[in-house]
Amino acid sequence: MSRDYEVIVGLEVHVELKTATKLFCGCEAAFGADPNSHTCPVCLGMPGVLPVLNREAIHLAVRSALALNCEVRPFSKFDRKQYFYPDLPKAYQISQFDEPLAEYGWVTIRPASGEGRRIGIRRIHVEEDAGKLNHLGQRLGDATGSLVDLNRAGVPLIEIVSEPDLRSAEEARLYLTELRAILSYLDVSDLRMEEGSMRCDANVSLRPVGYEGALEDLSRVEIKNVNSIRNVQRGIEYEVERQAEMLLRGERIVKETRGFDDATGRTYSQRSKEEANDYRYFPEPDLPPLVLSAEWIESVRQALPALPDAIREALVSRGIPPKDAEVLVLDREAYQYWLQATERFEDDRLVTNWMLSDVARLINARGESYAKAAVGPDGLVELLELIGSGKISGRMAKEVLEAMFETGKRAEEVVKEKGMSQITDEGAIRSIVEEVLKQHPAVIQDYLSGKEKALAFLVGQVMKQTRGQAKPDLVNQLLKDVIHHDYNTAQ
Ligand SMILES: [Zn+2]
Repeated sequence: MSRDYEVIVGLEVHVELKTATKLFCGCEAAFGADPNSHTCPVCLGMPGVLPVLNREAIHLAVRSALALNCEVRPFSKFDRKQYFYPDLPKAYQISQFDEPLAEYGWVTIRPASGEGRRIGIRRIHVEEDAGKLNHLGQRLGDATGSLVDLNRAGVPLIEIVSEPDLRSAEEARLYLTELRAILSYLDVSDLRMEEGSMRCDANVSLRPVGYEGALEDLSRVEIKNVNSIRNVQRGIEYEVERQAEMLLRGERIVKETRGFDDATGRTYSQRSKEEANDYRYFPEPDLPPLVLSAEWIESVRQALPALPDAIREALVSRGIPPKDAEVLVLDREAYQYWLQATERFEDDRLVTNWMLSDVARLINARGESYAKAAVGPDGLVELLELIGSGKISGRMAKEVLEAMFETGKRAEEVVKEKGMSQITDEGAIRSIVEEVLKQHPAVIQDYLSGKEKALAFLVGQVMKQTRGQAKPDLVNQLLKDVIHHDYNTAQ
């Protein structure tokens, strides 16, 4: 893209809160039930019903706002956002307009090159979700009909609106990854983008270098409802290229809403963008303003769990390389697995190495997660203890771990069944070493003349004779001893 423009990106992230019931009625909020089975007169928008605010939803929203460094307002209110669409039976959505729950927060992103950077959060507000339309066909354009499922109508959401501080698609990816990690430690949402419990709209515009006007005056394109972090990144990359080419041709960017096509990686025009006054917001007359005491807000702050920044620091101070710490911290389940394992096993680095190599590989291959892995932290610790006591070698342990995943058996049991045991008896190994050396006089000469590889060959021969059960460092040591003692003087 041209160096004449700077990329300006702001993200709006909708997060469904994990409450038992919906925001303004007692219907279950769970995902995946039969269509329209979680509905009642309130969320169906029947005349004469009154909404009652869900206290737990506000608790989770405030928890999120505090973890994202926002100021929670002691006074906020609800407003009606009017629009006509079949997924919204009341023909308005209850949201927060000019007095949102929280403002002025930030998330720190860490680009590979350079220092961490704060991305501002303009506001967080609470609102109800709409229902879901299921189009009969590949996409809206060629659908033969549409069905509506109102189970989602009224599920509590927070919308997290960033400042337009992001300067590339990669920064947008980093922001979303960090935001998702923070929310995962709070346990406020399922955060499943593919199920829609976390959704992202990206506002993308290009600013000519030297431009001094307001960002709001740039023609902004909104990419709507992208279903994965990867696709948000792809959508922004495509949009930046498209807009840059248009500007180079001297064309104007149309302010509009665009969809993202996963198959082609392109964005496509959906409709011209609404302005706030298109929604004719007005205060919700059926709900009193939301007034939160400073004491209550403070008690929610006190109950916040350890968050990614503090966890990163703790991991690095325990000797975990920053790169490994990053992998652990971004996956809450992995971090919890690690915590449980290191509680019982003192070598933090060894636990980390096994987790991020063999355990991760087997979990991925089997489509499991750390929380539901066939071998949990206790199983891994038992395996590491067998290596530590010299019963099996690290190489044998890899085979044992695979069998543990496969059969669900414990390490000790697998070792017994496979007849594995590491030969640590020096006398037994020494006689095999002497035997091997007798058979390979030429290799000994190679080694003595400085070929280090010759020793590796001899170690291999001894391991073969012991069917891999000798302790490799002991074999190494004994080979050197015997060669220097019995063969060196012969030269
Ligand atoms: Zn309901």
